[in-house]
Amino acid sequence: MIGFATLPEQVHRKTVKRGFEFTLLVVGEAGLGKSTLVNSLFLTELYKDRKNPPVHGAIKKTVEIEKKTVEIEEKGVKLRLTVVDTPGFGDGVDCGDDWKSVERYVDEQFNKYFQDESGLNRRNIQDHRVHCCLYFVPPYGHGLRQLDVEFMKRLHRKVNIVPVVAKADTLTKAEIAKLKANLLRDIDTHKIKIYQFPDCDEDEDEEFQQQDRELKASIPFAVIGSNCIIEIAGRRVRGRQYPWGIVEVENAAHCDFVKLRTMLISTHMQDMKEVTQDIHYENFRAQCISHMNQVALKERSKLRRDSISAADVKRPVDDPGKLLEQKDEEIRRMQEMLSQMQQRLQGQHDPLNKLPPAKPPKPSAPSSLNKTPQGSSSRDSIINV
Ligand code: GDP
Repeated sequence: MIGFATLPEQVHRKTVKRGFEFTLLVVGEAGLGKSTLVNSLFLTELYKDRKNPPVHGAIKKTVEIEKKTVEIEEKGVKLRLTVVDTPGFGDGVDCGDDWKSVERYVDEQFNKYFQDESGLNRRNIQDHRVHCCLYFVPPYGHGLRQLDVEFMKRLHRKVNIVPVVAKADTLTKAEIAKLKANLLRDIDTHKIKIYQFPDCDEDEDEEFQQQDRELKASIPFAVIGSNCIIEIAGRRVRGRQYPWGIVEVENAAHCDFVKLRTMLISTHMQDMKEVTQDIHYENFRAQCISHMNQVALKERSKLRRDSISAADVKRPVDDPGKLLEQKDEEIRRMQEMLSQMQQRLQGQHDPLNKLPPAKPPKPSAPSSLNKTPQGSSSRDSIINV
């Protein structure tokens, strides 16, 4: 026994100590039951002091981004849950551009993570990227509306979209089935990529496989939310009481709330985080890097162009003096070399000749333009020698 079998425990202990982060984005028009559902899902009072804006405020309102974070703990495991609400989405007269604010927010979070990752303090990065978007479809339509299609098409490559049918207690069983089928048809027609559940491993037990099949068959989840606990025959249930009866939020025969909660919290939270990291964020990162490369390339070629044109402009003004000095220096050196060679040659051919060796011609003034009256310059004199 070497001991590495404890590695999973070590990882477990470390991650539990560090805690988990999850960011949920909820999108849908006001009144669809978003805050009630979030409260029901995480058993928190996230929106206890929320005030609905008066109608004159809602008319001109643009989409806002409202972020709330709570720390919840279960069996020693801490979860830092951030819920991002989008008040104003779909509420205006013209809401064609409502997706823009949401897209900007999602991109900003990716960008922040990208900056943090490239910074000095990489170890303590707080992950605020959106891991899941619960998109609330109203129960009274016949399928996706233009606003829904536009939003999903703009964001499906950036975030895991999980569509839900809001206030499902307002529909009969048959109506729910029909609306779900219509929504899936529209999603397919418009080539929208909602969150894809991963394939279930074959070695999973039959119960888990069955649960997985049921989850996949229930999309888009038809949900009911409630903040009330009702007592039915000694049983305390979360539900909504109507004159004709009680609808139970956590009853699988009444709605898909439990399936949504299981998927979102118990079985697929980690997968959604991984898809966010490995697919959506990687796409963003690749785009960022290629954009940065393009900018750098443009800058470099601009610099090169500038330096070439600057050299072209400079040369005729600055260089002639220097160039001539260099040439004259070269001429002087060559003349010296030649005179030394002449001396040596004379010594070889006429050992008795005592005449002093021919003096090298004086270098001309340091200008190649300075020609002698006969038209020979200092450069000509080298050739003559
Ligand atoms: P939000 O504006 O989308 O956050 O909606 P709220 O959560 O504030 O809910 C608006 C109203 O709808 C409230 O009166 C809720 O009690 C009610 N509501 C919330 N969820 C449901 C639901 O599942 N079914 C029905 N029938 N009403 C709901």
